[in-house]
Amino acid sequence: MKLFKKCDYESAIVQIKACMEQLEPNGKNCSLCGDNDHQAFECTHNPLVALERIHEYKCFFCGNYFSGKDAEDHFGLTENDNPKCITVLMSLINKKNKEIEKLTEYQHLAGEYCEKNQKLVEAINGLIHHFNDYGLEEESFVLVMEVEKARTVLRELGYLSN
Ligand SMILES: [Zn+2]
Ligand SMILES: [Zn+2]
Repeated sequence: MKLFKKCDYESAIVQIKACMEQLEPNGKNCSLCGDNDHQAFECTHNPLVALERIHEYKCFFCGNYFSGKDAEDHFGLTENDNPKCITVLMSLINKKNKEIEKLTEYQHLAGEYCEKNQKLVEAINGLIHHFNDYGLEEESFVLVMEVEKARTVLRELGYLSN
């Protein structure tokens, strides 16, 4: 324990007096430290604020202070509970992960369709080239081969049962 000197108490009294200059929020700079982003009742240099903070717990994760019922709500009741801010964050992450999973699945399906489409295009091109080269000759062995090739592709892709 620190043994306070008379000057410590005197400076604490000076600080408290400076805070008393701003008993109500008045829109001006902090009457204790002069900063413009807070006022005396919330100033970390205010000895009374420090006293209040003794009964408050700071969350490691979100940095907010909680006391009493609010602390129970935020930190949970057992050591197995996660702070509320983390639980909210984790459910957000889970949601995002599920979305990513779905997108990956769609990507996979799109890839499969691209492959199927490519095979169909190749089969049709084979037939078209054949007709361009030979027309509809009955004796064309190449035509039979191309048709068989196209049939195989359609069967493979499930567009043809036999
Ligand atoms: Zn201040
Ligand atoms: Zn928190």
